[in-house]
Amino acid sequence: MGRTFFVGGNWKCNGTFDEVKKIVTTLNEAEVPSEDVVEVVVSPPFVFLSVVKSLLRSDFHVAAQNCWVRKGGAFTGEVSAEMLVNLGIPWVILGHSERRLLLNESNEFVGDKVAYALSQGLKVIACVGETLEQRESGSTMAVVAAQTKAIADQVSNWSNVVLAYEPVWAIGTGKVATPAQAQDVHSELRKWLQDNVGAEVAASTRIIYGGSVNGANCKELATKPDVDGFLVGGASLKPEFIDIIKSAT
Ligand code: PGA
Repeated sequence: MGRTFFVGGNWKCNGTFDEVKKIVTTLNEAEVPSEDVVEVVVSPPFVFLSVVKSLLRSDFHVAAQNCWVRKGGAFTGEVSAEMLVNLGIPWVILGHSERRLLLNESNEFVGDKVAYALSQGLKVIACVGETLEQRESGSTMAVVAAQTKAIADQVSNWSNVVLAYEPVWAIGTGKVATPAQAQDVHSELRKWLQDNVGAEVAASTRIIYGGSVNGANCKELATKPDVDGFLVGGASLKPEFIDIIKSAT
């Protein structure tokens, strides 16, 4: 209960320094509902995290797009959870399908990452979602349940977790899930949490939808009772991201 609407902007591997500053200016000038109505988190590439954090208005927050699975050290190219905490970065996105599919991140590896990031004090946007093939073969719920179980196996405190349902077939394709499709999976996921984790976690955990969300389709998706917000890719780089934030009301 009392789930504050959550809108995340996943900038992925996009943007020049100038473009990033321009997006921040647009966000800083926007008139949006207050933080108790909608929590806004933007996720620039690692190299821009510090500058975005320093320029961004204080009621919006930043997220990294990944972090290392355990304590930092001799892991060339990785960024540790400790470093993010040290820089004052409050959030991290973990288990995005682009990393699961392109970099072979397994359910267990994502579960390990989520647990470690939480143990260091980060808040986590944990992503789950099925491919088109999996949906068409009727295994959507089995897939997202297995992904969620790998997280639940390692996590006891869910208060700093936002679960993002992002069907792979909807990401970057312009083929958004219908509000009914999204609601369907979100309510099943909430039931899964209820049955496997507990009633309180099921009632309080935000389950947000991601995959081709834009300024035109967000409003109707947001009316669904189990859609607690969005994780937005492409449209988070554009001024219409403001409309998506406003869909909270
Ligand atoms: P999209 O990406 O909005 O561009 O489909 C969403 C995501 O990958 O988080």
